[in-house]
Amino acid sequence: MTKVIYMDNLATTPVDPRVLAVMLPYFTEKFGNAASRNHSYGWEAEEAVEHARAQIAGVINADPREIIFTSGATEANNLALKGVAEMYRDKGNHIITVSTEHKCVLDSAQYLAEHDCRVTYLPVRANGLVDLKALESALTPETILISVMFANNETGVIQPVEQIGKLARAHGVLFHTDAAQALGKIPVDVQRDSIDIMSMSAHKLYGPKGVGALYVRRKNPRGRLVAQMHGGGHERGMRSGTLYVPLIAGFGAAAELAAANLASEAARIAQLRQHLLTGITGRLRGVTVHGDLEHRLPGNLNLGFAGVEGEALLMGLGDTVALSSGSACTSAALEPSHVLRAMGISDELAYSSLRFGIGRFNTEVDIERVSDKIVEIVNRLRQFSPAWEIQQRSPATDPSTKLQSIP
Ligand SMILES: *Cc1c(COP(=O)(O)O)cnc(C)c1O
Repeated sequence: MTKVIYMDNLATTPVDPRVLAVMLPYFTEKFGNAASRNHSYGWEAEEAVEHARAQIAGVINADPREIIFTSGATEANNLALKGVAEMYRDKGNHIITVSTEHKCVLDSAQYLAEHDCRVTYLPVRANGLVDLKALESALTPETILISVMFANNETGVIQPVEQIGKLARAHGVLFHTDAAQALGKIPVDVQRDSIDIMSMSAHKLYGPKGVGALYVRRKNPRGRLVAQMHGGGHERGMRSGTLYVPLIAGFGAAAELAAANLASEAARIAQLRQHLLTGITGRLRGVTVHGDLEHRLPGNLNLGFAGVEGEALLMGLGDTVALSSGSACTSAALEPSHVLRAMGISDELAYSSLRFGIGRFNTEVDIERVSDKIVEIVNRLRQFSPAWEIQQRSPATDPSTKLQSIP
């Protein structure tokens, strides 16, 4: 038996062996507490943390003092939304976000809506992109925060963050972006994009799970937050708790490594994606690409297969490839993806959709095996699909006609 191909790199990525090598000494011989100021064990740990802080700041064009370590992007997003809402309560109580955000942003916004805040959820267009005019007209004198993700975890769609940042700056509103998927895969620059607060996660870029960071701008404008975790006053008082030094060291190394090879890796992965797309759509009809193909992470493909149940498809593929239907979080609840729904995709087609996440360790051979298997399983399932038969009889609604309009 050959190994199951891992093609779910938007859910998580394996730790790069070079990253692991950086982490290992900090579990054992260099185990000090970074907050211990009285001995060399503490200094050594602190040095590792400050090195990682500088590496991450360097990747996003920030100052190291603007990086607050957290347990991941979920915590960073919670801190950003709740921390800003609490800090700026006197100024206003209105937050703008988007219906296709990650659940941790939507659930934090929901929590705030139940606690005196007003939240606007912007819709997206059929291609997954937010409408800047709708964003501008949602702004009110009460607006304190715009939170729009950099790149979507289900569709890979990249939002126009530079324009959003400009708009926020012009209106004196803070701009937060969830860059968990963007960091290390496409250029992220907090100055160019006028980003004031930004969430990051290590395990999406070949670093360890359980660590992330929040970038918080120090000046022009200064982003201020009320801490959500109280204790020893670590991380400039914004996030207390003993720092997990090995994970932080790994995060720094992973970010630097990804940035150093960003252009070549993105080009290689984009080519693999193109081969996967043509390998499937060249041999199957009734396949829809969800989300804009141009403004998109290089490794993502989200496809709808008309007349086929996504779960049945995954079952048939299970021996060959690890993939997600919808997102990892929604597939546990078995609801059609809220992201695809927000793009106007029918529940039926959303249930028939798969998310491919091609990553650093995938090869051309993986792509061939996966596309061959997809074609085989889809054809087999369609033989027994009444839905597919009906679609065959009404060519006007055959989703394969949609494919022709995709560049
Ligand atoms: C993975 C992910 C998160 C959650 O990050 P964790 O570090 O796993 O908590 C948040 N937002 C996006 C866009 C993600 O892809």
